[in-house]
Amino acid sequence: MTVTQDTRVDRWRREALRLDAADPLAPFRDEFLLGAAPVTAYLDGNSLGRPLRATATALDAFVHEQWGGRLIRGWTDAWMRWPEDLGDLVGRVALGAAAGRTVVADSTTVLLYKLVRAAVDAAAGTGRDEIVTDTDNFPTDRYVLEGIAAERGLTLRWIETDPAAGVTLEQVRAAVGPRTALATFSHVAYRSGHLADAPGITRAVHEAGGLVLWDLCHSAGSVEIALDDWGVDLAVGCTYKYLNGGPGAPAFAYLNARHHGRLLQPVHGWMGHADPFAMGRGYVPDPGVRQLVSGTPPVVGMVPVRTGVEQLERAGVAAVRAKSVQLTSFALELADDLLVPAGVEVASPRDPARRGGHVTLRRDDFRAVNDRLWDEDVLPDFRAPDGIRLGLAPLSTSFGEVLDGVLALHRIVTGEPS
Ligand SMILES: *Cc1c(COP(=O)(O)O)cnc(C)c1O
Repeated sequence: MTVTQDTRVDRWRREALRLDAADPLAPFRDEFLLGAAPVTAYLDGNSLGRPLRATATALDAFVHEQWGGRLIRGWTDAWMRWPEDLGDLVGRVALGAAAGRTVVADSTTVLLYKLVRAAVDAAAGTGRDEIVTDTDNFPTDRYVLEGIAAERGLTLRWIETDPAAGVTLEQVRAAVGPRTALATFSHVAYRSGHLADAPGITRAVHEAGGLVLWDLCHSAGSVEIALDDWGVDLAVGCTYKYLNGGPGAPAFAYLNARHHGRLLQPVHGWMGHADPFAMGRGYVPDPGVRQLVSGTPPVVGMVPVRTGVEQLERAGVAAVRAKSVQLTSFALELADDLLVPAGVEVASPRDPARRGGHVTLRRDDFRAVNDRLWDEDVLPDFRAPDGIRLGLAPLSTSFGEVLDGVLALHRIVTGEPS
């Protein structure tokens, strides 16, 4: 260990301590169940958020009091409306959506299928037979779109995006036109963390006469979102990432009120029927956002989502976003100082206004490096072909944790102690 390096790491340690001491959200970290065997650094809160201690209590209470106590009566009392009730909460706290526009149901993949089909079916016969998306959109989005294009005889118009950046307004302007039925993108790119210009892109697609669907999986709970103000048509997103809803937690879908009764999703289940318990002949769609629901809602899975979103409401998305920018900026400063000299590249936007909640670094050997980090209880994730993604969940990640993770990476890529 050289003297200069020792000083440099000490300086970073002092900086991390200073940032943690000044962090107004630091108390929220204590609300998480940090586990019986704490890890050195959890840097994957963008893939699977940590559980809250309140979630364990809420699940226990649900089983004892609601499921165990209410039994079948729970459906008539309350559970039936949970998709809209929790949807309203998610919409208000995380999405900038008025009540009655959001439901919680299914998975993101399934809701994406339902909403894309609703959008393109509404355009049938208008000459709008294209779906616009980008080549670095999340895999499930690309696969669902390819399936729907094949199923409905539509054309997919691909925007080629740089995997270290993301889709731009200029690219979208050039791609949309009189044949656009729907344009759909990720708000924050899963690979680079690029934050798309959602209001600008939404306007550009509308000027071309198309509808817009945003995938908010990597932005809900980390970035400020204003779906109603931006005039977004449709949106979907996960609750198990920054909303801390737990593995396999149900997703959310947003449908702007101007489309209710006009855009119909194709999985006509009884739970999206205007009157499910009439058990009548023939499907009559619910006139509101409830039509997006198909089968029995995943009630147990919604319990942790509610605790997660209630915590977010107390913290406030603006404060969460401010810390998120600080966390990613700190990670990039550390990377520039400690990792870039060892041949590591930054594969995320430098401009904080164009960056979401994670930072991706890359080097040829990062697949093996990621395995070594996991062996040391430092948990980022690896994204093929050569990226290590540092997911920095503002409510549960400390600056000290970011430093510990980067120092472990520094030791591995340089072979030097730190
Ligand atoms: C995580 C993620 C998904 C996951 O979809 P599931 O149906 O929950 O597996 C979809 N889209 C994006 C952009 C994601 O980041």
